Amino acid sequence: NLSLAWALAWIRGAQATLEEHRMELIDLDREIGDGDHGENMSRGFKAVVAKLDDSIPDVQGVLKMVASTLMSTVGGAAGPLYGTAFMRAAKAADSDLDSEKVVAMIAAALEGIVARGKATTGEKTMVDAWTPALEAATAAQQAGATPAAVLRAAADAAAAGAEATIPMQATKGRASYLGERSIGHKDPGSTSTAYLLDEAAKAAG
Ligand code: ADP
Ligand code: MG
Ligand code: MG
Repeated sequence: NLSLAWALAWIRGAQATLEEHRMELIDLDREIGDGDHGENMSRGFKAVVAKLDDSIPDVQGVLKMVASTLMSTVGGAAGPLYGTAFMRAAKAADSDLDSEKVVAMIAAALEGIVARGKATTGEKTMVDAWTPALEAATAAQQAGATPAAVLRAAADAAAAGAEATIPMQATKGRASYLGERSIGHKDPGSTSTAYLLDEAAKAAG
């Protein structure tokens, strides 16, 4: 099962991968948005990692701190969306996570994003990464997968979901202002979601 050490490794890994992919996320957002997504995520996770310390008692504590820090440092659309996702995930979490709890956390994160942003699938937003992630995680859990394998299934489905946003026309968020010109580009928020879930899986590894 997964516990505090996993959550800490995940968040450190997330910071490193978002730093590594900062320019890529900036370029994706430049094509269909305002070009700040890579910088927003980089700034947010740097602030998060600066706040990781020994006083955080459990997984829920890590996720709550991530939520409040992203809310106050990321800005734009992604800050409140990821902030709500991590807050809901914290509430669904436990200090000791089995496969079922991992699925519950992903479900809670997606519910938070939908409650905040009112997007459904096919609108070229991060919902198009989180929704297949939840479906794949649920299927893996029902097949008896370990927490690590549930996260791997979720991460791979999120990456495929991000790729699948390329032919979509955006109807939510800043990219929707482009109308048909949003077609043919990968959604930045779906891409950062895939990186976040990939690190969650690697940390469970
Ligand atoms: P901003 O668009 O304010 O500059 P970011 O660039 O940081 O914010 O984040 C953009 C990402 O946020 C998009 O790529 C998309 O995935 C996500 N997003 C935008 N609006 C919504 C929404 N209503 N629901 C879900 N995700 C959204
Ligand atoms: Mg932007
Ligand atoms: Mg912006």
